Amino acid sequence: MDERKQALLRNLPKIDDLMLRLEKMEAMEGFLREMLRNACRSVVEELRTKIMEGAEESFRMPTSGQAADQARLRVEGYRAFRLRRVINATGVILHTNLGRAPLCREAMERVMEVAGGYSNLEYNLEQGERGIRYDSIRSLLCAISGAEDAIVVNNNAAAVMLVLNTLAVNREAIVSRGELIEIGGEFRIPDVMEKSGARLVEVGTTNRTRIADYERSIGPETALLMKVHTSNFRIVGFTEEADRRQLVELGKRREVAVLEDLGSGCFMELERYGLEHEPTVQESLAAGVDVVTFSGDKLLGGPQAGIIVGKRKFLEKIAQNPLNRALRIDKMTLAALEGTLVKYLRPAEAVADIPVLHALTQPLAGIKKRAGKLHLLLKRMETKGVEITRMDGFSMAGGGSLPTRGIGTALVGIRADFCSAAELERALRRCEPPIIVRVSDDRILLDPRTMKESDLKEVSLLLGETLESFRSFRP
Ligand SMILES: *Cc1c(COP(=O)(O)O)cnc(C)c1O
Repeated sequence: MDERKQALLRNLPKIDDLMLRLEKMEAMEGFLREMLRNACRSVVEELRTKIMEGAEESFRMPTSGQAADQARLRVEGYRAFRLRRVINATGVILHTNLGRAPLCREAMERVMEVAGGYSNLEYNLEQGERGIRYDSIRSLLCAISGAEDAIVVNNNAAAVMLVLNTLAVNREAIVSRGELIEIGGEFRIPDVMEKSGARLVEVGTTNRTRIADYERSIGPETALLMKVHTSNFRIVGFTEEADRRQLVELGKRREVAVLEDLGSGCFMELERYGLEHEPTVQESLAAGVDVVTFSGDKLLGGPQAGIIVGKRKFLEKIAQNPLNRALRIDKMTLAALEGTLVKYLRPAEAVADIPVLHALTQPLAGIKKRAGKLHLLLKRMETKGVEITRMDGFSMAGGGSLPTRGIGTALVGIRADFCSAAELERALRRCEPPIIVRVSDDRILLDPRTMKESDLKEVSLLLGETLESFRSFRP
């Protein structure tokens, strides 16, 4: 080892010395001692690594005071919450990276009431004895969808896994090749099926599968006919698929259960609002499908959950699977789901109050008005070298729902002479709260469809400050 390295290593700050300094700092009072020591250690270790890898000529060993300050910053970093609110200006309503569905106020109020105290989660108040966790939610789900029975687990991936594991373990489930999809977050239907213990039997081709293809593959080992909503993509052109009525008819005739994974789990007829048709839970059940699964936090607009509805004969079996216990939801999810589901008893209330549905069905005129307001607010800032334009564009449902057609929207685009759109996008992400935007054609785009009323003002203030700091660096 060369002499310079040895000399530097000898001068590394001492951990005990850093500890003494931290202990004297008011800001470090009361913290776990072992954690403070680990923070000091990691600061010193990083310096050691730098030296061993051959520190540059310009390297200056920090003083003990400076190193202690680095350790303090590290500890303060632990205390800063990582999971926090962001402003979604992307126009993607169900943005999986941004927490999917925002909850409605009623759902949040239910969580507040139940989370901080005791509740009758599993207590029957009438009888004064142990009750069933899912009772509240079951009756609501059945009332809204017309199902005989309902079960709720952690997410739809878990719901599909649980159903397959109950009804088709070590037996065969028949699926069309056109429906062997991957959903974001590496949820692949074939992989989930394998893990569930069901044997996948693929029928048809990518673009065409007929009911006869299913029928030909039914054998003594067949336990399920499975239909998967292709959520995030569409095969267009020369296509054919067996519709669910045909599958139900075949299932009945050959005594094989039919499962449909709807993905988004919509209760509303979205075409009434000028949107694409999204298969509803009700229509799947009405067609006679035995078991239907869907997400709680996609078009339903509730908390993360996987909902299973269908015929009692199958759901009783599913409920008794030990996996069901491993996948069970907690009281906060249950409370939020109840607060969301009650809205669906009156569809007009659901559309008005559930943020996902409200954002989806907002008429273009309303969005235009809010884009106009945002435009005005932005025009109030220093606009020298900044171009602010109102433009037409598209919002997206996201979450694998309504994938083919964007939803017409009104955007505000911003371009500055003194910074690129990519730089501006990055700077906005670092605001407090962070603002997430789309970039197109060297402009950032703001879509009011996914922004709250209060976001408009906040965004215009933060954007003004951000542009100002770029301007002052590059006048
Ligand atoms: C989204 C989706 C899933 C996974 O649902 P999660 O609630 O995210 O687990 C499964 N199947 C389909 C068809 C989907 O669209």
